[in-house]
Amino acid sequence: MKILVLPGDGIGPEITKATLAVLDRASGKFKLGLEWDQRDIGLVTLKAQGSTLPDSVMEAARQAPGIILGPVDHLQYPAREQGGINPSGELRVKLDLFANIRPAKSRMGVGLTSKPVDLVIFRECTEGFYADRNMFFGRGEFMPTEDMAIAVRKVTARQCNRISRVAFEWARKRRKKVTAVHKANVLHISDGLFLREVRKVAQDYPDVELDEKIVDAMAALLVRDPSRFDCIVTGNMFGDILSDEASEISGSLGLAGSTMAGDEACCAQAQHGSAPDIQGQDRANPTSLILSAAMLLEWLAARHQRPEFARAAQVIEGAIDSALQSADTRTPDLGGKLGTQAFAKHVAGLI
Ligand code: NAD
Repeated sequence: MKILVLPGDGIGPEITKATLAVLDRASGKFKLGLEWDQRDIGLVTLKAQGSTLPDSVMEAARQAPGIILGPVDHLQYPAREQGGINPSGELRVKLDLFANIRPAKSRMGVGLTSKPVDLVIFRECTEGFYADRNMFFGRGEFMPTEDMAIAVRKVTARQCNRISRVAFEWARKRRKKVTAVHKANVLHISDGLFLREVRKVAQDYPDVELDEKIVDAMAALLVRDPSRFDCIVTGNMFGDILSDEASEISGSLGLAGSTMAGDEACCAQAQHGSAPDIQGQDRANPTSLILSAAMLLEWLAARHQRPEFARAAQVIEGAIDSALQSADTRTPDLGGKLGTQAFAKHVAGLI
């Protein structure tokens, strides 16, 4: 099975190399037959080909059984007309990868607030306030005058329904609780529609408890007691912000795996950004991308009835947990001394 690998910008190439080292080991051990179709995107192809996401890469993404995407430095990208396409937004919309699934788990004992964290955030990621993906043509952000900017938020019943269903399905296999996070006290119509769909889906899952929280209270409650939460379903921007909060509370942003998935395709993507401040220093923690790749293996296992992929994913997760137990085998962001590649080598050795 040939997986498309897009290392991205900043620390992307370093953490991708580390991730492939771990996957190669798992592939050999569990006879997964994984191969890599590695292609440049981002600032490299902007310079060489005039686009951060060349058409040939988009075509390869459409054909690939799975994708591994490193972080991209889209803050530095020029406008779309000058070749600056955000690969993650584009892949989400074009491949219908509507479900951004972001677990947060305290892997070093308790999390930063001395409480254990084990929750999953389900974030709809093809609409909402994200200007690059909420319009058929044009952008959902514009300036009628020099001193006025307007952003449009798109919410559809279909996508609210789909993301809710994914959250309830996961909840059934976990602790049977879904918390819907919204701002319907202010955004009566759009978040009212979101809540209408979540409640509708909940009727199909009488065995799962539905809880509702306003987003500002949710931000505080996550700090106060993350153990109250199991599966959290929400829209694009709230999910983006709360998932960074949840990951940091679990121990570090660098620990959080993430996939964006649809019915037909799945892409592993680290939750953090391209970290240009530590690029090229062999200091980046590759755990987030490694765990994202393990989530992709779980998705492939279900999609292609390949239980060995799921076994490999579980063993990779176990190896990460073991490596993180000791301060000696952690990366510098967690107070350890191992570089990116040495950490990956250590994790691979535990598989
Ligand atoms: P960032 O997540 O890149 O970095 C925030 C801080 O966390 C930095 O101090 C960085 O060094 C640290 N950090 C992040 N990942 C780390 C890791 N794996 N190991 C150790 N330390 C890590 O956020 P930013 O600096 O605000 O954004 C940089 C660029 O990344 C921007 O262009 C932004 O748009 C982009 N971004 C991309 C994605 C993505 O591709 N999925 C997500 C978020 C931000």
